[in-house]
Amino acid sequence: MGSQTIRLGRLFGLEIGFNWSLLPFFLLVAWTMATEVLPSGAPGLSSTGYWIAGVLGTVVFYACLLAHELSHALVAKRKGVKVAGITLWLFGGVTQLEGEPRRAQDQALITAVGPLTSLVLAAIFFGAQQLLTGLNAPPLLVTLFAWMALLNLVLGVFNLVPALPLDGGRLLGAAVWWRTGSKDRGTTGAVRVGRFFAYLLIALGALEVLAGGLLNGLWLAIIGWFLLSAGAAEGRQVGIRSRLRQVPVAAVMSSPVPTLPSWLTCGQLAEAGGPSAGLYALHGVGGEPMGYLPRSRVDEAVRAGHPERRLEAVALAAEHLATVRPDENLEAALLRLEQGALVVANGQLVGTLSAADLARRAALAPLLGPRPHGSLE
Ligand SMILES: [Zn+2]
Repeated sequence: MGSQTIRLGRLFGLEIGFNWSLLPFFLLVAWTMATEVLPSGAPGLSSTGYWIAGVLGTVVFYACLLAHELSHALVAKRKGVKVAGITLWLFGGVTQLEGEPRRAQDQALITAVGPLTSLVLAAIFFGAQQLLTGLNAPPLLVTLFAWMALLNLVLGVFNLVPALPLDGGRLLGAAVWWRTGSKDRGTTGAVRVGRFFAYLLIALGALEVLAGGLLNGLWLAIIGWFLLSAGAAEGRQVGIRSRLRQVPVAAVMSSPVPTLPSWLTCGQLAEAGGPSAGLYALHGVGGEPMGYLPRSRVDEAVRAGHPERRLEAVALAAEHLATVRPDENLEAALLRLEQGALVVANGQLVGTLSAADLARRAALAPLLGPRPHGSLE
């Protein structure tokens, strides 16, 4: 999570936070409720009362958004995709997946459950509103529930628009992925459709403002602007992924295998400097293998106040590291890369692959080859 993100707590083992960009939209929702929706649904109350109810309603709305995101996250976890956490921002939420669904069906399921949750919530609020009406509950409460039903309905339906980064775009991507076997073709198609929708919404918003509907126009334009910038980010990711797919591990790995003597201490290595990532093979006094050392573990030991620890004490055995083949492409290899990977060909260790290798490669990227198709930059 970035520096703009405020931590809220943990739920189902997931880190939940919100981004400051949420604040303007929060105020816009509260403003709409306090000045338009509630006064027309339950007239005759003080403006303070409308504002209190409006802010409370907006908090409930964000809780509904969180439920939508949680459903994505929990199904993703079930499907074996690691989830870093959930961040609420602007007018939505982002579930940060650390891995990628392996199959189109998994992606479809992880995606579909979100809008489904919103639609179920809409039905529950609608049922409760009907019940409250029957019980002659205060009109303010009835209006609040009616609006929660409407907001969740809009959230569910709007998210099904087939445009990335909306869930509908991801479903479209999953469908094309399933039909063609190519994940990227689905994504690029959905990004294009999304850009069309974004410009359409911004144009409609501008027309609405010109026609005198400031609030509605503002809403449409903000949503359009969001779709435009988020869609562009998705497009860039596809570009990066397809570039990674064209690079074999062999082109990036450190080879011959970088080695370090196991009797050095963490403090000595930290003082020597060098890249803070990297994966080394350790050797003992007689040259015998002493395990593998992701460089990050050295800095961790120093930070924990143990610079006297020998490298062999913080090393890992081979079975704790991923292994990749030199002819594999980087995209496939990256999914298995945590502390670094051993590059093994025909049972022989031929190199190591770590974040440091990738960073070095990234610095060279502008000099290497033309941009692939499908990049939207
Ligand atoms: Zn969603």
